[in-house]
Amino acid sequence: MASAKTQPKVAVKPRLKRDTSTRLDIIIVGAGLGGVGAAISLLLAGHNVKIFEAANEIGEVGAGIQILPNASKVLQSWGMKEKLEPYATKPARVNMLGWKGNLISYLDFNESASKYPGTFYWDFHRANLHKALLERATELGAEIKTRARVVNVQIAGDEANSATVVLENGDRYVTDLVIGADGINSRLREILMGRPDPPTPTGDLAYRLLLSTGEMLKDPELAPFVTDPQVNYWLGPDAHAVNYVLKGGELFNMVLLVPDDMPVDSANTLQGNVEEMRSLYQDWDPRIPKLLSLCESVYKWRLQIRVGMDSWSHPSGAFTMLGDAVHATLPYLASGAGMCLEDAAVLGELFTRAPNPKDSHVKRHLVKIYETCRKERTEMVVKRGNRQQYLYHLHDGAEQEERDRKLVNAEEGEAL
Ligand code: FAD
Repeated sequence: MASAKTQPKVAVKPRLKRDTSTRLDIIIVGAGLGGVGAAISLLLAGHNVKIFEAANEIGEVGAGIQILPNASKVLQSWGMKEKLEPYATKPARVNMLGWKGNLISYLDFNESASKYPGTFYWDFHRANLHKALLERATELGAEIKTRARVVNVQIAGDEANSATVVLENGDRYVTDLVIGADGINSRLREILMGRPDPPTPTGDLAYRLLLSTGEMLKDPELAPFVTDPQVNYWLGPDAHAVNYVLKGGELFNMVLLVPDDMPVDSANTLQGNVEEMRSLYQDWDPRIPKLLSLCESVYKWRLQIRVGMDSWSHPSGAFTMLGDAVHATLPYLASGAGMCLEDAAVLGELFTRAPNPKDSHVKRHLVKIYETCRKERTEMVVKRGNRQQYLYHLHDGAEQEERDRKLVNAEEGEAL
């Protein structure tokens, strides 16, 4: 087994030097994890990048995010290991528990990391991850414009070699390539498809909680959640719960996944009722009601997915998409952001390798290859997320017992 010291590092990509004849001007729409990741990757490929973000200020909601080995490798290749490590919690393992608290199976992350050298399981506060990505993009020369809502992308036909991005205030920008990274409620997706196309509800919602750990540390039953960082999943009838510690033990992240009871025409995020939330878990592993008793207020988020887009790109190759806008998934594999970062890495790789991506034929080809590389994999992740929803929420009985047997025997990363 390779020790941490002998593990090969992930090679950090140098920034490619290009002259203006092969350097693209790229506009990325949306400064989420996907958009900023794409900016870093394409800046490293030697291109110019502007990001247009609709919000007045850039910021991530205050909750946790798991970064799995595939995504940690991408981040390291962008030269971000040193920036991220101070904020990363490295859980020792992930535990799958029954809803009454019985351990079904676990995966030892340290063993797994030694099998796949140079990879990490990292847990972050989203704001820390996002800020580190923004810092890296800025260091590399990204121009980031807030209060810049994109309302249209105009392209003069399938042979065009540029696109015009139109902002809400009427400003227009001509660019070589537009990348729509505007999230699940994507406007750019609708522009590309030429029709309205709302996301698909999944029938589940998420309560997202952040607890400060002071009170937990006073309780011998809860303190180990803080002092021995592990990721825990409890699987139960129609619901599950996930938790892990963040910021070196300062905060505790909990996500509760339950049937969606939000009015059909309501906003997708609403203030939740703490009592109602507690009542849903009152008969579960007693540590869960105990944890929920520490929560004072909560928001609930409708969980939706994105599927069914025949093509992610305009035939000209001057406009493509990435991230939740094209493949938002249930968060049950903790992989949505990982898929965004992979999209960004593939785009960067392709736009590094081609000698002259400014040539319209080459650019069209690269965008097509990008889509081919990413579509099947991300669609598979969305499907597997849906499958996890079914499996995680089984009621006690023969099928649940069969699931638990499979969990015990599953090879790492194997689909159930
Ligand atoms: P977003 O983060 O939504 O960013 C889109 C940006 O575009 C926003 O800043 C928005 O303001 C901007 N925008 C929108 N419209 C416009 C416009 N017209 N013009 C300009 N700007 C615009 N993933 C993981 O990998 N691991 C996890 O542990 C994990 N946990 C999750 C838990 C929950 C409860 C949920 C809901 C998701 C989780 N995910 C996880 C998924 C992950 O959060 C998303 O996949 C990821 O954040 C999507 O990033 P994005 O950049 O595509 O979109």
